[in-house]
Amino acid sequence: MKLEAVELVDLFTNYKGAANDRIALHQVMTDTRKEAKQSLFVPIVGDAFDAHDFLKQAIQQGAVAALWQENRALPKFVPTDFPVFYVKDTTEALQQLAEYYLRKINPLVIGVTGSNGKTTTKDMAASVLSTIYNTHKTAGNFNNHIGLPLTVLSMPEGTEALVLEMGMNNAGEISLLSRLATPDYAIITNIGESHLENLGSREAIASAKAEILEGLKPNGKVIIDGDEALLAQLKKEERSISCGFKQLCNYTISVEAAEDNRSVFSVNGIRYELPMAGSHNVKNAAFVIALCEQLQMPTKSIQQGLNHLTMSGMRFEKHEGIKGSLIINDAYNASPTSMKAVIEVVHQLQAKKHKVLVLGDMFELGEKSLALHAGVGEAIPAGIHAVYTLGNQAKEISTAAAAKNPQMEVYHFTDKKELISQLLNTITEDTVVLLKASRKMKLEELLLDLTD
Ligand code: ATP
Ligand code: MG
Repeated sequence: MKLEAVELVDLFTNYKGAANDRIALHQVMTDTRKEAKQSLFVPIVGDAFDAHDFLKQAIQQGAVAALWQENRALPKFVPTDFPVFYVKDTTEALQQLAEYYLRKINPLVIGVTGSNGKTTTKDMAASVLSTIYNTHKTAGNFNNHIGLPLTVLSMPEGTEALVLEMGMNNAGEISLLSRLATPDYAIITNIGESHLENLGSREAIASAKAEILEGLKPNGKVIIDGDEALLAQLKKEERSISCGFKQLCNYTISVEAAEDNRSVFSVNGIRYELPMAGSHNVKNAAFVIALCEQLQMPTKSIQQGLNHLTMSGMRFEKHEGIKGSLIINDAYNASPTSMKAVIEVVHQLQAKKHKVLVLGDMFELGEKSLALHAGVGEAIPAGIHAVYTLGNQAKEISTAAAAKNPQMEVYHFTDKKELISQLLNTITEDTVVLLKASRKMKLEELLLDLTD
């Protein structure tokens, strides 16, 4: 970030201290546990905490100005010249400041939403765009009403392209993010079942994702999954660009080779390679290829960007396991669609023949949750050797898997320790273990025992 305190005076007119001075603000501080030199402290008020209580630490850690909720008394220790901007709501003010800074830097903005594949597509897009543009992207999963403005405000001054992940739990949230970011290009990766609990139906999820159109720039385009029936209406619109394996998409994908660590495919006849497995990742790459073709980037640069992907953690992260086995940590999060997608990748893996799935609960799926878990169990292909489940709901996965494939080894656990002690006995050099569950299950903890 590159701002001066004096720029905030126009935005937040009620202030005290030396706010009119040209005090350099280089970053936003929301977490006072970390040092942040020349920072603007933005005390966020959450359900369980109120960061206004930490102003002293904020100043010690490098805050040189602060936003402050207007009805709260300012502590006595604050130096008289310390700039404080009074606002009604600090989170809203953070969004307002992000909007101001974004308009000032004015990069090309790409917004990525969808039920699954947002982070992957965001990382791919940033990798490819960075071959030509100074590119800034959402760090990790900072994709909500606080994370997105913080991402915007962490963008360096010379940023030419900004790739923003937009996540949601409820209707209305993508609308807010999109209006703030005003994307030149929006990408809707897919429509799954995540957050079914809050939204009620896949149709409602589709319309919540379509909120990304609300902030789209007047000549902006939306790049969508052309295989998704729920996006059929949008697919007909002039501003939409569809990508898919089926016919009648603007960008048609066909896979030529699906290997353990590499996919070869073509998009409208142009051949690309991706250093990753999985047809879902090929589709994510196709969204990025469509975007970059719209930007008239040379094929060579697109391929170069795909070769040098740096992905966020816990997405199909490969680890060398005990006894020479392979452990795949995809435990960042899970929904039925993403679980099925990644199981299929493990199923097709050629390097290891003994395929083991460790699957845990998927949360926030609403009333149909148990049926959706069972649906994953039914979808497990016969080539999978063993399924270990953990958690109350995941039990449905093992029950359904056992019913469908009586020869499959299926075990259910309520305790991680018991699961691991049984699993460890069965691992050989030829084993691949997939770890996948919702974030709260912290399935990655099993890595400690599964790796040397
Ligand atoms: P979150 O909502 O947790 O931020 P996300 O949308 O950012 O998730 P990623 O982290 O990119 O998603 O991917 C999560 C998992 O979803 C991947 O590991 C993979 O199993 C699956 N996945 C990725 N892309 C797709 C896709 N296009 N369709 C279906 N599943 C996908
Ligand atoms: Mg994500």
